[in-house]
Amino acid sequence: MDTIEQLERAIDSLDAQRATLGEEVVEMALALLREKSNQLRLGATGAESAPSSPPNMVSNDLLDRLLIAARDQENQTPQHHGSTFLEWFASPAGTPLFDYFSEREASPGEIIFREDENGDTMYIIRSGQVAIIKGGLDTPIIIGFRRSGDMIGEMAVLEGQPRSASVVALTPVHLYSITRDKFYSLLGESPAISQGIMEMLSSRLRESDEAIRRESIDNKRLIRQVYALEVDNYDLTQLQDVLRQTNERLQAEIAEKEALQATLREQAIRDPLTGLFNRRYLQETLERELLRAGREGYTIGIILMDIDHFKKLNDTYGHSAGDLVLEALGQMLRSQTRGGDIPCRYGGEEFLVIMPGATLEVAARRAEALRLVFQELQVEYMNQSISATLSLGVSAFPTHGRSEAELLSKADKALYAAKNSGRNQVVVS
Ligand code: GH3
Ligand code: MG
Ligand code: MG
Repeated sequence: MDTIEQLERAIDSLDAQRATLGEEVVEMALALLREKSNQLRLGATGAESAPSSPPNMVSNDLLDRLLIAARDQENQTPQHHGSTFLEWFASPAGTPLFDYFSEREASPGEIIFREDENGDTMYIIRSGQVAIIKGGLDTPIIIGFRRSGDMIGEMAVLEGQPRSASVVALTPVHLYSITRDKFYSLLGESPAISQGIMEMLSSRLRESDEAIRRESIDNKRLIRQVYALEVDNYDLTQLQDVLRQTNERLQAEIAEKEALQATLREQAIRDPLTGLFNRRYLQETLERELLRAGREGYTIGIILMDIDHFKKLNDTYGHSAGDLVLEALGQMLRSQTRGGDIPCRYGGEEFLVIMPGATLEVAARRAEALRLVFQELQVEYMNQSISATLSLGVSAFPTHGRSEAELLSKADKALYAAKNSGRNQVVVS
């Protein structure tokens, strides 16, 4: 705008200087300036008022959507046009019907009339196709499509109400239009047209009835779906409960089985009378310990012991008394051995202690200590104090061999030697 004003001031000042500048020059300059000024003016107002699409047209997007919807609907339900309004209006002989009508053309995308506006004109489609939409042009609901022979806009005319929907041309459309006044006078003249209108209205009623029925079926289907969903949810909750319970039961069973397995494992490796490891466990463990000791380079001391004259003890005090002595020996071995030591019941009244890390000397000292403790043990049985002694043989890895068999055999030989040397003593292999 500033530029336009500057130009106009320049024009004024040029005009005032005609005398000094010369008529011809001023006229040429003025012509150029005026042209420029006009261009600016037009450009400015044009830019300000140019809409993205003309006010009586829908956007290209909406037109595309409507065309696609029309095509889809036609694929689903092919239109059939029996007797049309055109025929009805054309039929009464001798009546110059088309005197009543005006003609109107509409191009694709053109809004023929709008929802909610007042209208006293109705149309018969001569050619082309239109869409009926409701709810505004931004988010329209497509009501349906009408084509050649169909009537549009008759509702507002008959009811005297504003337009119930908007109508948009999808193709180039040729319309016959008739005003309310002319229409009513036509009705009076032509019973065929009255009949046609009544048929049309009743078919529209059936159409909307059908639409409502469809909607209600859809609703029922929806309700069933929702209901089914709830049922599913209910089933799901139940299923979850069942699964949770099953899971809990399984967990309990697993825990029980694990406990049982642990017990069985214990039973498999423990001697029930003394609670010490049994010979089977000893063999497994000794084998493993020997491999590890070989790898890591440490010694293992082995003490094999046997209760002296145990047969006689049994014979004297009874088998139960013998058991008590065995139990007492087991208890003693557990309490006298260290964390890493492995005390086992090797056989009837033979016991064995594996001492990883112990040299032959250490094992011998420990054997002597065990002997001393055991001989002091008094087992109370039926008001009698029973005591016994031990003979012990000691061997060591790797001094006496690297295999279980070698080491046990050496310990056994030493034990035999202890027995032979008068019992209640330790013999080192
Ligand atoms: P030695 O000094 O030569 O070892 O004589 P011993 O009598 O101890 O030797 P022998 O091997 O002749 O006797 C072992 C006895 O141990 C025989 C058996 O009845 C007894 N015995 C083995 N296991 C058990 C047991 O679990 N309980 C009891 N009470 N006695 C057992
Ligand atoms: Mg014995
Ligand atoms: Mg024995």
